[in-house]
Amino acid sequence: RKLVGKLTTGCTEFNEMLGGGVETQSITELYGEFGSGKTQVAHQLAVNVQLPKEKGGLNGSVIMIDTENTFRPERIAQMVDGLSQKHGEDYDPEEFLKHIHVARAYNSNHQILLSDSASELANELKNTERPVRLFIVDSLTAHFRAEYVGRGTLADRQQKLNKHLHDLQRLGDLFNAAVIVTNQVMSKPDAFFGDPTKPIGGHILGHTATFRLYLRKSKGDKRIVRLVDSPNLPDGESIIAVTTEGLQD
Ligand code: ATP
Ligand code: MG
Repeated sequence: RKLVGKLTTGCTEFNEMLGGGVETQSITELYGEFGSGKTQVAHQLAVNVQLPKEKGGLNGSVIMIDTENTFRPERIAQMVDGLSQKHGEDYDPEEFLKHIHVARAYNSNHQILLSDSASELANELKNTERPVRLFIVDSLTAHFRAEYVGRGTLADRQQKLNKHLHDLQRLGDLFNAAVIVTNQVMSKPDAFFGDPTKPIGGHILGHTATFRLYLRKSKGDKRIVRLVDSPNLPDGESIIAVTTEGLQD
């Protein structure tokens, strides 16, 4: 078993709440309402993981499965510029973009297939200078939510999601990589989906995702991140800011 790596969020309180940063060999679930910052955190981690270890990174590359077409290269560039300012360096956004491998998933089956392709690509990069140290699935649940509607299909949906998550956990273990998944929740109950104010896949995700982070909006650019039901860390909250330069204290 390899030593667990820690990936900086770029935010002091947030890192401390996680015991140093986002862990490799674990799944970290970001859940929250639309606009709560799940995709922003995912983008920032895709940048940070490329930093050298002394800057809190893992010197790695990233595979992102994008199911909602929300990956934005321009946003990555802004965040890289933000880090250049913060670290007094001259990072090149193009270099960072080169190490983010994005695949669009058109439906839930395609999403599952892409996690197999991700494994192949990670294998190819394994013994290079840029091994894959981060897998992102944003959103984990959107296709499943859209495709499996109605009571009779829920068990099937859970089973598929469960298998998908086990595949992702395996990728994390195999490549000593962090795994980030996002899961939207709604603020108001909706008759179709049981209780959508809870993350879908609720129970099963609860057991598989080792770190569950609940994001919610606060004043202005502030977001509150709550660590929920961690097996080895105290529950806690931290405040971050989502700014043009990226995540900040
Ligand atoms: P969804 O469930 O709809 O996918 P989400 O949780 O992924 O939502 P994000 O897309 O991460 O939400 O957050 C969007 C918010 O991030 C915007 O409303 C804005 O506050 C902030 N944001 C996005 N881009 C920038 C930027 N370039 N500069 C500053 N803030 C930004
Ligand atoms: Mg999003």
